[in-house]
Amino acid sequence: MADISVYWFRDDLRLTDLPGLVAAASAGSVVPVFVRDSGLGGEWRIASASQWWLHHSLVALQHGFAEQGLELILRSGDTVEVLSALAREVGATNVYCSRHYQPWSASLEQTLRDTLSQTGVTLQRYPGTLLHEPEDVATGGGTPFKVFTPFWRACNRRPEPATPLAAPSLKAPAARVASEELSDWQLTPSTPNWAYGWNDLWRPGEAGAQAALNGFLDHHVPHYGDGRDIPSQPNTSKLSPYLRFGNISPRQVWHAAQSAKIEQPSSADSLDKFLSEIGWREFCYHLLHHFPTMPDEAFNPKFNFFPWGDDQERLSAWQRGQTGYPIVDAGMRELWQTGFMHNRVRMVVASFLTKHLLLHWRAGEAWFWDCLLDADLASNACSWQWVGGSGADASPYFRIFNPIAQGEKFDKAGGYTRRWVPELAGVPDKYLHKPWEAPDTVLSESGVTLGETYPLPIVDHKTAREAALSAYATLKSID
Ligand SMILES: Cc1cc2nc3c(=O)[nH]c(=O)nc-3n(C[C@H](O)[C@H](O)[C@H](O)COP(=O)(O)OP(=O)(O)OC[C@H]3O[C@@H](n4cnc5c(N)ncnc54)[C@H](O)[C@@H]3O)c2cc1C
Repeated sequence: MADISVYWFRDDLRLTDLPGLVAAASAGSVVPVFVRDSGLGGEWRIASASQWWLHHSLVALQHGFAEQGLELILRSGDTVEVLSALAREVGATNVYCSRHYQPWSASLEQTLRDTLSQTGVTLQRYPGTLLHEPEDVATGGGTPFKVFTPFWRACNRRPEPATPLAAPSLKAPAARVASEELSDWQLTPSTPNWAYGWNDLWRPGEAGAQAALNGFLDHHVPHYGDGRDIPSQPNTSKLSPYLRFGNISPRQVWHAAQSAKIEQPSSADSLDKFLSEIGWREFCYHLLHHFPTMPDEAFNPKFNFFPWGDDQERLSAWQRGQTGYPIVDAGMRELWQTGFMHNRVRMVVASFLTKHLLLHWRAGEAWFWDCLLDADLASNACSWQWVGGSGADASPYFRIFNPIAQGEKFDKAGGYTRRWVPELAGVPDKYLHKPWEAPDTVLSESGVTLGETYPLPIVDHKTAREAALSAYATLKSID
């Protein structure tokens, strides 16, 4: 008699290139399940914007299974209890899954393995959504990498990632298995529906991921190398939420990029740059695996003594995009309205929070966690610590982005800023990133009254910069 297996979906919401699903399918019939465990992850459980992505990824997965006559089973509760009860209920001999790298995942997987084994069920865990498992990449001394460039070099010396797998053909179990209704989970907002319009911007799920990848490789790759820092232009892949939820695997991306190098040799450098950004994602996971306190504690312990401020009004102005610095406000409003922010602008707003406002990187990390569709424990924590100066291979704290110069350099023609800060749309380029320097006549012709239609800067750039450098100087005496 053929076996029945349970496939436990986690951050791998797709049907292609899923080694555990292929193995489960080859062993017999499969009961695919997603468990909503609201106790898992504590403050890092899936937050608002990501829940929207999760909902739509599950819908896409439901459709994918329905095409093969299977149903994606939805169950809520403690992961170990739900999975062991389901395995008993359907008579499964194996539970398959992909590995997770969150700080709580290894102990969860061990508890599950032990509990299942008491009833003769085996947990079959497969590699997760990375190109290289964190333990497979180490320095010559066998220690984890803390610097990106040698890490990525070491990754590239390893055998190339295996060819992506096709979706397996699946067999449903003979008896129907009960499932909860996705709509009862209320993962999408209703009153108010702050995700209004997101269906036009995003297409969560595997088909959307492939479309985003192909669109990027077909149209935008040649401009990636030079243009990835220009937020008004669609030069980057926008693959991050798809990768976050495993709607696509990094090795699918890696292999597609290798093929594109052959088809478009003139874009080889751009493609290598793109792959090195996928490498940053790998690096963040490498760090999270080896340093699991990274989301909560400064990687460089000196920063535990940094004199962070606690001004909630400043935090609120930053969150609402009302700082009076146009490029910062544009980024924060893009985030709120679309669940996404361009990488260059993420760096600018993060620098502004931690250096101009002297607010703790954790406050920014938490806000991003709630608002980003791609909110990812490893990449978010690693990036916030990188900008804040406390991370591994971090940008030095004294590198303080000047929000005026950043706006003038990366949004020279103002397309990005005018889109997200429409009250400044009429301000000429010369003053767009520093409207407080515009003569009164220019402001009135542009329909701007500073302090009324658009805020005055909440801090003065020069003064804030000096305050940040003095705060940083207090760390110098700490060994
Ligand atoms: C303060 C801050 C917070 C961030 N938080 C997150 C987060 O929660 N989730 C997240 O996925 N990215 C995060 N990033 C990294 C980066 O901004 C996004 O991955 C990128 O903007 C996604 O856009 P894209 O897919 O068009 O990127 P592309 O430029 O097309 O890059 C391709 C892929 O590489 C990965 N990548 C690119 N840049 C980075 C990076 N610096 N670090 C890690 N991976 C990277 C992403 O998976 C991305 O989809 C953060 C950056 C900063 C400065």
